[in-house]
Amino acid sequence: MAQSVLTIDLDALRSNWRSLAQRSGAETGAVVKSDAYGLGASRVAHALAAEGVRRFFVALTEEGAALRKIVGPGPEIFVLSGHMIGDTDLIRGADLTPTINSIDQMLRHVEGLPGHAFGLQLDTGMNRLGMEPAEWSALRDIAVAQRPTLVMSHLACADEPGHEMNAYQLEVFRVMTEGIDAPLSLAATGGILLGSDYHFDVTRPGIGLYGGLPFVDALPVVTLEIPVIQTRDVEPGESVGYGNTWFAEMPTRVATIAAGYADGILRAMGPAAHVYADGNRCKVLGRISMDLIAVDVTDLDADPQSVELLGRHQLVDTLADAAGTIGYEILTSLGARYQRRYIGS
Ligand SMILES: *Cc1c(COP(=O)(O)O)cnc(C)c1O
Repeated sequence: MAQSVLTIDLDALRSNWRSLAQRSGAETGAVVKSDAYGLGASRVAHALAAEGVRRFFVALTEEGAALRKIVGPGPEIFVLSGHMIGDTDLIRGADLTPTINSIDQMLRHVEGLPGHAFGLQLDTGMNRLGMEPAEWSALRDIAVAQRPTLVMSHLACADEPGHEMNAYQLEVFRVMTEGIDAPLSLAATGGILLGSDYHFDVTRPGIGLYGGLPFVDALPVVTLEIPVIQTRDVEPGESVGYGNTWFAEMPTRVATIAAGYADGILRAMGPAAHVYADGNRCKVLGRISMDLIAVDVTDLDADPQSVELLGRHQLVDTLADAAGTIGYEILTSLGARYQRRYIGS
């Protein structure tokens, strides 16, 4: 069998949530947008609900409706894109809570679903989603009178604790929410780690649950094991892979493994990437193909049956560095062709 195995450790996930909840000192939700960062919203949300999560966050109304079937009635499901045209029936049917981003969305919400729960998203400087101070002043009293279940904003630079943007956004958020009697939320994973000033009433971790930076103490959640299809000797002067980008300078033992860029192993990481065989680091040779990668196994005692791309030896952020990207992109790129195995519950 040449199918790679992606193992997702639900106990590690739950432990990461508990650690972040402990540091939050506030109610701790969970962000499960984009299929729980590629790890499977169904199993992930089940495990987190069992751990005690009562507020989930997704990006799209459609994701929220699917999540409602998974967690059942009870937990509040926030839709970060808010109340878009065409969403009204799903929001009502699945009992979702849109985080309202503009006056237009607010009008759509109160006209389409009078009395239905909503949150409010404020823009404190990121200029991505939410109401800006001027728009907010016009709507604030009317919106707050309708009793939002959450008033939130999002930090642009929380992964850099020393960045001046953090204190600036904190101050803007304080001013915009002064005197408001509703639960407040500013911190995602990075914000939780900035300290208690940033925690308010509800925190919203995502990446830290899944084992990614900036939560350096996270337990690894994902292991990716890729079978070796074939192993061969390559002589000095011979090349490996498309475009002849790598030539052997000495006799080299080359293993061809059964995954490639179609599985989300970004082609751009090419020569900077490594895999692990029985704990030994093996270099990727030449270009990453669609379904195959060549790796150097010369120094191993025996030809490996499989190699590990993600896991204890190599965390998502190490692999991300090889591609000049971030752990978030590595996780959400994980392919559909893997056999997915969940351990723990
Ligand atoms: C994605 C997202 C989060 C979670 O962020 P992490 O950095 O993954 O913890 C929280 N809030 C909002 C608004 C988001 O878009």
